[in-house]
Amino acid sequence: MYAIKVELKVNNKEQTLLRKHAGFARFVYNYGLALMQGLERNDIAGGYGKKIKAIKKVLTNYTKKQQEFQWMSKLSSKVYQSSLQALLNAYKRCGQGIADRPKFKRRKDRESFSVYDGNGKVLLPSGKQIKIPTLGTFRLKESLSCSYCTQTFTISHRAGKWFVSFAVDAEKIPPTYHAQEKIGIDLGVKCFCTLSDGTTVESPKPMKKAKTKLAKLQWRNRKKQLGNRRLGVKQSNKAKKYFDSLARRHYHVASQRQDFLHKLTTDISRKYYQIRIEDLNVSGMLANSKLSAAISDLGFYEFRRQLTYKSQVYGTKVELVDRWYPSSKTCSMCGTKHDELKLSDRIYKCINLGCVAHTITLDRDLNAALNLLNAPDEYVRLAQPEVTPVDK
Ligand SMILES: [Zn+2]
Repeated sequence: MYAIKVELKVNNKEQTLLRKHAGFARFVYNYGLALMQGLERNDIAGGYGKKIKAIKKVLTNYTKKQQEFQWMSKLSSKVYQSSLQALLNAYKRCGQGIADRPKFKRRKDRESFSVYDGNGKVLLPSGKQIKIPTLGTFRLKESLSCSYCTQTFTISHRAGKWFVSFAVDAEKIPPTYHAQEKIGIDLGVKCFCTLSDGTTVESPKPMKKAKTKLAKLQWRNRKKQLGNRRLGVKQSNKAKKYFDSLARRHYHVASQRQDFLHKLTTDISRKYYQIRIEDLNVSGMLANSKLSAAISDLGFYEFRRQLTYKSQVYGTKVELVDRWYPSSKTCSMCGTKHDELKLSDRIYKCINLGCVAHTITLDRDLNAALNLLNAPDEYVRLAQPEVTPVDK
């Protein structure tokens, strides 16, 4: 199963409709959460599922019928079903110890909600339009390339754009043929990665450029009037515009990076069967402030995540080499360890006088990539996909 996410083309009227539904979803979630917390405070026994069911009844039979909540009947009732389901899932995850306690959603949080077809799966024809159950037909920025069969639709909002995503109950058939058997990949700061066949991939530096632009933007808006609800000060129009453009800029940078990583990981997954990368301690590296800006910019973690989940799609085997394996200090030709190698040494010169790598110079990253490729089995483990293959 995999998910498809496409951007909607909305006019003002449609945008208002989606906004209202997002608000409805948030209201229901918070309403349910408040009641759940009340039940807990009073030590009411019962499982999460049972309690949520009772809350749903209160909402349908009582709350919705109140004068002040009449607006709910004009919106899709599927939204509150999904919202309460989301709340239930949040409680379950918390019960299993994999997430914190559910929190109230705020207006400024990322908006999203789900709707579904009550009669089961629907067929989405290919083309530039999409019919979303209970909401209507919407236009798409890019057309769907083929027909899909699905039931639940999630609508989300980010940086002024609206997206719809849905899960497709199908498997992509992995190609059984890979042009090359195996590859070792060394991730670097100077260039994004070096492959053991000698290929190097330059990283785009969108962040750096964007940071300059961001600084300029901040300077031009230094006198904006920030809102303060407590003092009753309204946010100025300039400030509003500024925050919108800030969100758009962040989104732009993130998209550029995602695009680069997706292209790269797809290319690698198509070409090679066995892929070995270093099991980086990314959080440890981020603690080093000098490296951190460069690394968080590059998205090593995201690179690994994409390679791993694409292994199911392309039938590859992604392996992680233990980070204690001295891949950069060992000579890939004779195996001699070179302890005095500094991070600034860009070339590798073997200290063993009889080795070929003593007379010829070897690129440091290429040497590391070759070592990863030939790493002994006790240092290697198979990468496990940690998240579902959904492009968020
Ligand atoms: Zn050597």
